Amino acid sequence: MVSPLDRVSPGARAEFREAAPPAPRDPPHVVIIGGGGTGAAVAHDLVLRGLRVTLVERGEVTSGTTGRHHGLLHSGARYAMTDRASAIECIGENKILRRIAPGSFEENDGLFVALTDEDADLERQFLEGCWQCAVPTRRIDRAHALRLEPGLNPDLRLAVQVPDATMDAMRLPLRFFATARRNGAEILTFTEVTAVTTAGRSVRGVAVRDHAAGRDYEIGADIVINAAGPWAGKVAALAGVTVPVAPTAGVMVAVRGRHCNMVVNRLHAPGDGDIALPQRGMTVLGTSSWPVNDPDDPDVPADHVENVVRETSNLLPALRGAEIRASWSATRPLIGKNGTQSGRGMAREFRCFDHALDDSPTEGFVTIAGGKATTLRAMAEITANVVCGKLGIDRPCETSDVTLLPHAAWYAR
Ligand SMILES: Cc1cc2nc3c(=O)[nH]c(=O)nc-3n(C[C@H](O)[C@H](O)[C@H](O)COP(=O)(O)OP(=O)(O)OC[C@H]3O[C@@H](n4cnc5c(N)ncnc54)[C@H](O)[C@@H]3O)c2cc1C
Repeated sequence: MVSPLDRVSPGARAEFREAAPPAPRDPPHVVIIGGGGTGAAVAHDLVLRGLRVTLVERGEVTSGTTGRHHGLLHSGARYAMTDRASAIECIGENKILRRIAPGSFEENDGLFVALTDEDADLERQFLEGCWQCAVPTRRIDRAHALRLEPGLNPDLRLAVQVPDATMDAMRLPLRFFATARRNGAEILTFTEVTAVTTAGRSVRGVAVRDHAAGRDYEIGADIVINAAGPWAGKVAALAGVTVPVAPTAGVMVAVRGRHCNMVVNRLHAPGDGDIALPQRGMTVLGTSSWPVNDPDDPDVPADHVENVVRETSNLLPALRGAEIRASWSATRPLIGKNGTQSGRGMAREFRCFDHALDDSPTEGFVTIAGGKATTLRAMAEITANVVCGKLGIDRPCETSDVTLLPHAAWYAR
């Protein structure tokens, strides 16, 4: 067979070889700070797009807020009256997560229960909000609600059924970690970022302390992603930038016994003690909300525990007097506008910050913050889009269609 090279002179042949496509280069390296659900989902997305990924987590994976949340796969209904952007994000991700993580959810649906005339007056506004956000609803009367959920307060006025679900706070993110690792991501636990290394205004990597081995070293990176949840402000400070994260704590209480089979919410504007959901053989009640300076140290105020039990007992009277198995707190990584807001009224939306666009730009440093455990995949998609855009990589997001490995794959070495 005649090769195309046989048709050119020896000199031109050398030139032809020089013009041949260069050998493939190593993919860019991205370091992700934070091994919660958000960091896990970002690692999964980026390795699918062909990048080299190292994730560093100062403790065990999911040891931050992720491992301590309520376990509600939101339908978005909770935010339909007050925060429509979040409601729309939640229902979209609710559907995707059920598809890519089969078996991770108790597909038990949720009820929004009106207990008082004041609650019942919100029915129209609630249904309208859900409709506008494409959250499916089914209005049911008192008798039907009590058939579905016999433990409900028999004085309820009406209820609305929505596609909420119960999830295990740790197992869903473990599926992202396991799949990311299978596809080549390196996950370093007990490894704390102590500094972000720079050359001028460009980030060059991170300095870390390996707490298990007791040694310090540096990891070079083309881009560093801050996915440190409520610690995002502290991590941003290591790079000399600011992010308006307002760490906002909340208390949860686990009581013995399944006092409901569905997710039971109060039909009113989001408030304290208005959600109860079944988790295995227990019922988990939540929550409260207060601003904290240090996400490492939120206490568990006794009056919050009492209030959460009292308020949820209005929905499910048998909770009054149920044996408390545990109470704990966790800290939400909420985004404030210019850092001025705090607390319950803040939106649950998420934002990705490319700090190269700050007033005082820092190249190569990106923060993802805000959101919910329910929206972890979408948070990762927007972050990976920003990172790939910066690196000139044109690979679409695939995570809506890739079925995740089972959570047990995380433990199989
Ligand atoms: C009370 C409460 C109830 C909630 N209930 C629900 C719910 O039912 N459903 C829902 O969808 N969402 C819920 N949320 C919200 C949800 O839990 C959070 O949005 C989500 O878990 C945040 O995940 P993350 O990965 O962004 O942060 P995190 O899980 O906190 O992960 C950040 C990680 O960064 C690590 N880190 C910090 N600093 C460093 C460093 N210097 N070096 C290395 N690692 C570092 C931390 O150790 C941590 O593991 C709830 C939140 C709270 C507070």
